[in-house]
Amino acid sequence: MRIPLRFDSYGNFKIVQFTDLHEGPNKDKAIDIMNKILEYEKPNMVVLTGDIIDGKCQSVDDVKLAINHVAEPMETRNIPWAIVFGNHDDEHNMMSKEEMMKFYMNFKYNVSQIGYKTFDRVGNYNILLKSSKDNSIPKFNLYFMDSGKYAPRFIGGYNWIKFTQICWYKKKALNLKIKYNKNIPALMFFHIPLQEFKKAYKNGVINGKRFEEESCPKINSGLFEFIYNVGDVKGVFVGHDHLNNYCSVFKEIKLGYGGYAGYRTYGEDYIPRGARVFLINELDPANFKTWVRQEGDSELNL
Ligand SMILES: [Zn+2]
Repeated sequence: MRIPLRFDSYGNFKIVQFTDLHEGPNKDKAIDIMNKILEYEKPNMVVLTGDIIDGKCQSVDDVKLAINHVAEPMETRNIPWAIVFGNHDDEHNMMSKEEMMKFYMNFKYNVSQIGYKTFDRVGNYNILLKSSKDNSIPKFNLYFMDSGKYAPRFIGGYNWIKFTQICWYKKKALNLKIKYNKNIPALMFFHIPLQEFKKAYKNGVINGKRFEEESCPKINSGLFEFIYNVGDVKGVFVGHDHLNNYCSVFKEIKLGYGGYAGYRTYGEDYIPRGARVFLINELDPANFKTWVRQEGDSELNL
């Protein structure tokens, strides 16, 4: 189902980003924290930035069960939600990313797309958020990309955004600019951080914490430079490093983490599970607000 996404009557649009849920066939506490945060924040949309499920799934039914658990907090509240894949999502080898994406897209409130496919990457797409007053005017844009898995062994570490994906982004951004005669401010979501995250952290943190080094790919394929030159993306937000939930800034572009919300995965008790929240106002969408909402916050009563 295609749900039109638009700013509310106050001109606001709130997004909650959950990441690294690592859900399996047995429902766990990650779903509880999702429910609590959604109940408190009441967002207009949810974004899941990868490692949503993992190798704990050992059959097609397990995969579907795990995805059903993850879908429930949004589906029961009628909240549109979009996903990208992380490095663990298909390690069960029971369903391909494309098969899983089709399964996600079958949920009533899921707004993900298979989008542009290249190499092993599935789910490169964008969603326009429309004005509260006029459904034909986009005020904000969300890009979603599949940042892949592991680099070839002789390089080591994690894979990088492919150059074909960068070209897809650039073409999409320029087409939008031509169509609407201006840059539409945007956020970009994927799973594995860019090398620029390290540089951004050195500039200081806006909010959140850093308890581990950024595990970005060894190769920088140049996405950040393209983003910077095009000028539409105001923030890039990822997951992957569970012990980081900071937001920083590099060359005026915010770079940040969603933290982690999974319990059956690596983590530390002193780093609470949680989510990142974005509040965008259509009068000045480039200057969105963002903060971390987590377990232990008095508001959540956890
Ligand atoms: Zn990961």
